[in-house]
Amino acid sequence: VAGVRDLTRRFGDRVVLDGLDLDIEGGEFIALLGRSGSGKSTLLRALAGLDRDVEGRLEVTGSVAVAFQEPRLVPWKRVGSNITLGLAVPDAGERARRALAEVGLTERAGAWPLTLSGGEAQRASLARALVREPELLLLDEPFSALDALTRITVHQLVVQLWTVHRPAVLLVTHDVDEALLLASRVLVLDGGRIAYEAAVTAARPRHRDHPELVSLRTRL
Ligand code: ATP
Ligand code: MG
Repeated sequence: VAGVRDLTRRFGDRVVLDGLDLDIEGGEFIALLGRSGSGKSTLLRALAGLDRDVEGRLEVTGSVAVAFQEPRLVPWKRVGSNITLGLAVPDAGERARRALAEVGLTERAGAWPLTLSGGEAQRASLARALVREPELLLLDEPFSALDALTRITVHQLVVQLWTVHRPAVLLVTHDVDEALLLASRVLVLDGGRIAYEAAVTAARPRHRDHPELVSLRTRL
């Protein structure tokens, strides 16, 4: 669903993405790791078509939805209207109700975005991405502001969505265990490129000291 060749992004003299190559196959679940400032969000913005100043080749076929690192809700529209913003399908209202219920925000549908807590806003932003049922779902640390229990619920929600609709997912996370739990392929962004890549095998490593986990941690 996406192919990236020699993607470069500079901010002034700083080269943040430096000739990056990446292919995303339909239906695969990728976790993207990398130190703070390594360019993960920059890559997601490029994939979402929101950055015109990238150099290189970028091909995305199919629809894309993004949940940004900072939930970007439109402040003058109520939460429910934010979910369906720009969604031109006949059952938009029903889909939004379902999505809000799934992220546990039914009661907040009529609220103004600025009255939401951080975690609530993050869940609303996730609902807005899920409701689009995209072919490529870009998730930028969507679980970071969630408490442990909500995080598990929302994990299940993403996995369930993936099972039903099979979008390709690119999930940015700082949590190695979360990456190995959810993804079938783990990428580490470093030096402006995909510096390390690992397929997560069916027999997923669960122990903290598993060599695969240890080797991943040393690369972060
Ligand atoms: P984090 O894990 O902290 O979210 P990240 O990997 O998502 O980090 P990016 O947000 O992609 O990092 O930023 C990569 C680098 O590019 C950073 O050093 C950042 O300061 C720089 N950068 C990003 N956007 C801009 C911008 N609009 N103007 C100037 N520099 C920018
Ligand atoms: Mg980021």
